[in-house]
Amino acid sequence: MHELALVDSIFQIINIKIKELKLEKISQVKLVIGEMKAVEEMTLSACFEVFAKDTIAEGAQLIFERVPLRGKCRQCGHTFKVKNYRFICPECSDNAVEVISGKEFYIDSLLAE
Ligand SMILES: [Zn+2]
Repeated sequence: MHELALVDSIFQIINIKIKELKLEKISQVKLVIGEMKAVEEMTLSACFEVFAKDTIAEGAQLIFERVPLRGKCRQCGHTFKVKNYRFICPECSDNAVEVISGKEFYIDSLLAE
């Protein structure tokens, strides 16, 4: 499962932070997820709970911030929101479109007690 691997990578980072900052309890984890990352928030939350069980992150609230998919035309420089994965510039109809946001997946913040 895709979400399981993502949660695994989240916990690798959390564990580093726990050691680094000597945290004792994590109450909230905020994740930034790009639109292109096909992530089911419900599944991700369920996986998170499994991983968090018996750790200091048990019961932590998971917050999602979704980042829309945006592209930039290499031809005219126009930036726009990509709809339905149509990578075509609405200004000049060129299809040389660079993805400038929407691929994100990272921990934005950890709230510790
Ligand atoms: Zn263009």
